[in-house]
Amino acid sequence: MIGASLICAGCGALHPWQAAEPWRCPRVRVSHDHDDTDHLLQRRIDTPLALPGDSHAASDADEPLPFVRFRQRLFAYHRARAMGVDDADFIALVRTLDAQVAAIAGTGFRSTPLRASPSLAKQLGLPSGSTLWCKDESENVSGSHKGRHLFGLLLEILVDEALASGQTLSAVLAERADRGRPLAIASCGNAARAAAVLARACGRRLLVFIPPTAEASTQAHLRALGADVTICTRAAPHRDPARHSAAGDPTYRAFQAAVAAGALPFCCQGPENGLTIQGAHTIVYELLDALGPRRQRLRHLFVQVGGGALLSAVVAALAEAVQSGLLSTLPRVYAVQTSAVAPLVRAYQRILAEISKALPATEYPAIAPSLFPRWAEILTQPAQQSAVRQALHFARQHRHAFMWPWTMVGEPHSLARGILDDETYDWACALQGMLSSGGYPVLASEAALAQAHTAAKQAGFLRVCATGSAGLAGLLTRMQEDAFSSEISDGEDVAVLLTGAER
Ligand SMILES: [Zn+2]
Repeated sequence: MIGASLICAGCGALHPWQAAEPWRCPRVRVSHDHDDTDHLLQRRIDTPLALPGDSHAASDADEPLPFVRFRQRLFAYHRARAMGVDDADFIALVRTLDAQVAAIAGTGFRSTPLRASPSLAKQLGLPSGSTLWCKDESENVSGSHKGRHLFGLLLEILVDEALASGQTLSAVLAERADRGRPLAIASCGNAARAAAVLARACGRRLLVFIPPTAEASTQAHLRALGADVTICTRAAPHRDPARHSAAGDPTYRAFQAAVAAGALPFCCQGPENGLTIQGAHTIVYELLDALGPRRQRLRHLFVQVGGGALLSAVVAALAEAVQSGLLSTLPRVYAVQTSAVAPLVRAYQRILAEISKALPATEYPAIAPSLFPRWAEILTQPAQQSAVRQALHFARQHRHAFMWPWTMVGEPHSLARGILDDETYDWACALQGMLSSGGYPVLASEAALAQAHTAAKQAGFLRVCATGSAGLAGLLTRMQEDAFSSEISDGEDVAVLLTGAER
């Protein structure tokens, strides 16, 4: 018996827990020339989500290490238990690995601070009865939330290797060897930094594929940690923009080639490794845990979106909280993209068009960003749920009608350089989260990104970078654009994730 499962959100295939390398849907590996399904393995845990903070008697109530505190939400935990590993041994694995990370990074994984910011709330003009909560990831391992995705993934890899080899978890960890299978990642900065720390901590070789625009300090840091760095240059623009854009991110393509050649996908893109998502669930668990009963007032959550793994994790963790009775309703999630690169905004427009085909013939708003709030209001009405479900199902079967690489001529530029992904790889979960909660995407201008960054620092979030405060830029944009404050009812709280630190 195992208390968790892995199911493909695209085709419904179940990945048996005993099968090796549970990274991608088994049906992806079969060549389908005409298969446009968005295969994505999602882990499901059988038991309801419980928050240790709700039960002061629980042994985990004072546990600061998120991957111990919330270990029962990891697929690896259930897989290890099914192999006969006891709870104490799994905890020992997490603590040992965390100590090895701390020896490299100067800190291990700890619950990150959640702070109310009355000064930011006032500056933005939030209603006086609303609290603005800021979850600050800038002091996390490697200075961003990316380490959460990857630490969760590293636990999965270790458990997978123990299962395949018949060794104990501690023996696999002590081996400090990659068995000829290096880890691989494509990134423009923060994810690569986190991956390099974690790979070094467990003595694994890491292949990193980065663009030439990656900061010099990041490149030096990666090399100092022993990562094998490849710089991938974007091809010169094709005369036909459609043909050029079809190419996508060269770092991502190089990463895929490395995985095809045998490297392990140690990445932050769900379609390449579905188990990368769950590590960042811990951000939401911590947020809800820290809020206690006040969590019911949390009605609006702004999250920056590049590749989409973070938002995918946020949406899934909030859904678990609702299913488990910890939240009475889903907070509205708002995906914040930059005006420079916004493939998720495009996908949201495409799905509105798809949904509207199934709606009763009547007057609907035009499909334009300024009318997204109106659409969100319409689509959360019970009468429209069937049309929304059908459109999402259709979209997962027809990925390329909704998501394809943004047209880039040269390297794109934005203050929020960390979210300039060509594609929102985890787009479908992001759309589902917005459509089911009543949220919508928000485009932040460069001016808004700059203003939010300054405001965050003035409010005491001194380390945060402009990518890290992009979620706040989304809130600021909505407050400036129109009467967003009328969408916040009295007593409703708003939260933003501040995701990364400046270098
Ligand atoms: Zn599948």
